[in-house]
Amino acid sequence: ILNIIFKPILLGCPDPRSEMASYRRVVNSQKCVRAGGKHNDLEDVGKDVYHHTFFEMLGNWSFGDYFKVEACAMAWQLLTEEYGIPADRLYVSYFSGDVANGLPADEETRQIWLSMGVRPDHVLPFGMKDNFWEMGETGPCGPCTEIHYDHVGNRNASSLVNADSPDVVEIWNLVFMQYNRLENGSLRPLPQCSVDTGMGLERLVTILQGKRSNYDTDLFTPLLTAIHQCSKAPAYQGRTGETDVGQVDMAYRVVADHIRTLSVCIADGVYPGMTGAELVLRRILRRAVRFSTEVLQAPEGSLASLVPTVAHILIMDLINQNEAQFLSSLKQGRRVIDRTLSNMDKDLAVFPASVAWSLHRNLGFPLDLIDLMLEEKGKMVDKKEMAVLEDEYERVLDDEDRVDQLDLHSLAELQSQGVPHTDDSPKYCYSLGTDG
Ligand code: ATP
Ligand code: MG
Ligand code: MG
Ligand code: MG
Repeated sequence: ILNIIFKPILLGCPDPRSEMASYRRVVNSQKCVRAGGKHNDLEDVGKDVYHHTFFEMLGNWSFGDYFKVEACAMAWQLLTEEYGIPADRLYVSYFSGDVANGLPADEETRQIWLSMGVRPDHVLPFGMKDNFWEMGETGPCGPCTEIHYDHVGNRNASSLVNADSPDVVEIWNLVFMQYNRLENGSLRPLPQCSVDTGMGLERLVTILQGKRSNYDTDLFTPLLTAIHQCSKAPAYQGRTGETDVGQVDMAYRVVADHIRTLSVCIADGVYPGMTGAELVLRRILRRAVRFSTEVLQAPEGSLASLVPTVAHILIMDLINQNEAQFLSSLKQGRRVIDRTLSNMDKDLAVFPASVAWSLHRNLGFPLDLIDLMLEEKGKMVDKKEMAVLEDEYERVLDDEDRVDQLDLHSLAELQSQGVPHTDDSPKYCYSLGTDG
C-alpha cells in the first residue's frame, strides 16, 4: 500500500484509476515487519520489552490536507482526552535541523506544542536519526515530531527520551512529508505538504492496560501461558532489561514474538525461504526453534502448536466482536422480514425495496444477504425500486448539504416496522462499503 498507492499520492502524482487518489484524509492499520532492511529490530527483540519483529502500526494520513497544527492537536487530543493519558507523562520531540543536509530546525513544531500547553521541558530537539523520517533511500521524507511515554513518572525523565530506556518509550511518530529525496541524495520540496503518522499498537495497549511491558498485555499473555504449557521451563516472570539475556524470560519473549511474525507472514503468503523477505522469515523461524528447544526445553512441534493462540488473539476475537455486533441486528432484521412477508399477498414474489434498503442502511445488512434470505422464502427484492433508492442515495452523498438527511427516509421505514433506532446503527455509509 505504502509504495504502490500512498507514495505516488505523496509525490503529487497519484494513479487516477485508484479510488484512493480521491481521498485527502485516510486512517489505517499497517502490519509491519522490521527484521531486515532499513529498519531492522531483530537484535532487540526479546532483549527489550517494546520492540517486535511484527507489530501493528496505526496511522492517520493527510494528502495535501491538514498539516502540522492539526496533526499535533489531533494526536494530543486523542492521547490526553480520549485515552486519558496524563500530559505530564508525555514528552514530545522535534527536528533540531541538520547542516549537512541544509535543513533548518523545525521551530514551527516546537511552537505548536508550546502553544498547546506542553511544558517547555517536555519539548525536546533531536537530529536526523530520530526526527527526520525517510521512507527509503529515495522518496518522500521530512522532519517528524514524536510522542514518548514515561512509564514511571514522578521525575524529570527528559534524559531518557530516545535513550533505549524501557522507562520512557516512543509511542507515536508524526511525519511531515515536505521533501522528496532524489537519487543523487539532494532534497526537493514536494508539490504539497502531507502528514504520515505511525503509532505502535502494542505500545499503546501497554499504556492503556497500565503495564510496563508489551508482553504483559493481553496481546501476549495468552501466548506466554501457551508456551509455558508446552515447555519444561519455569513460568514467565516478566523481568525486563538486559540482565536476563540468554535466560528464560528472553526466550519466552522471542518465541512469543516470532510465532506471531511467522503466523502473520505465512498467512499473507510469505514463506520461509532462501532469498529476500523469505530468508528473513527463515532466520526468524530458526531463532524461534533454537530458543524454544534449547532454552525452554519444548518438544518438537511446540512452535506450530502456538498458532491457534496467535489466531485467537489476532483473528478470533475480531470475529467474535463482529458477530456480537451483528447478532441483535440479525434478529431484528429477521423479524422485519417475517412481518413484511406475512403482510404481503402470498402470490406476490416482489419484496418492497424500501424495507430492504432500511435493513441495509440502518441494521447493516449486506444487500446480497438480504437477497439470499428472501430467496429462501421464494421472494426477491423489487430491483427497479431498489435502483431508484440507490441512485437517490448516491445523489445525496454528492450533496454535502443533504447528507444529514441521508437516513431519515429509511429510518422512518424501519421505525414503522417497530424497530428502535440504536446508537450503533450506521449513520453514514460511504462508498467503501462498510457495514457501519
Ligand atoms: P524506536 O525508536 O522505538 O525503535 P522507531 O523510531 O524506529 O521506534 P518509527 O519508525 O518512528 O519507530 O515507527 C512509528 C512507531 O511504531 C513508533 O513510535 C513505535 O510506537 C512503533 N514501533 C516502531 N518499531 C517498533 C517495533 N519494532 N515494535 C513495536 N513497535 C514499534
Ligand atoms: Mg526503531
Ligand atoms: Mg525512534
Ligand atoms: Mg520513531
